[in-house]
Amino acid sequence: MKCYNHTKNDAVATCADCQKWLCHECASFYQEPVCAPCNQKRINYERQNIFKDFWIMLVLGIGLTYLWVSMFSERLSHGIDVMFVIVYFYIFFSVYNWWKFLNKITPEMFLFMSIIGWIIYFAIKFCLSLFVWVFVTPIVIYQKVKRLIELNKIKT
Ligand SMILES: [Zn+2]
Ligand SMILES: [Zn+2]
Repeated sequence: MKCYNHTKNDAVATCADCQKWLCHECASFYQEPVCAPCNQKRINYERQNIFKDFWIMLVLGIGLTYLWVSMFSERLSHGIDVMFVIVYFYIFFSVYNWWKFLNKITPEMFLFMSIIGWIIYFAIKFCLSLFVWVFVTPIVIYQKVKRLIELNKIKT
């Protein structure tokens, strides 16, 4: 078999995504043996996912803050001040990351434990996450922005 890019070169691998034949040069171009169009697809897909996450965070942040403020504003003696809105926006903006973070630190093996064991475990993780969730959002945003910049730098 010959490489799909270089008809003179013998193929040594196939693209991990579309199974096209690749020569040694083409197969070692990226970390994994993938062809250029598939690599571009992967980059686009990852970029879309990052933007999707930002949109979910924004929609949750704005939507839940709006709901919260409109539900409780009448009962607040001091009315709505800007700090109040910013704090709640940050909390709701973080909910999605918080939830993802909780999923990450809850190994799947606990799904097979007894219900009580699972509840205790989850309660401990939940309490722990109460202390760290404030820091999770800036870290997640930093990582996502860094990754976006990396993706833009990759030559295709
Ligand atoms: Zn491919
Ligand atoms: Zn090649």
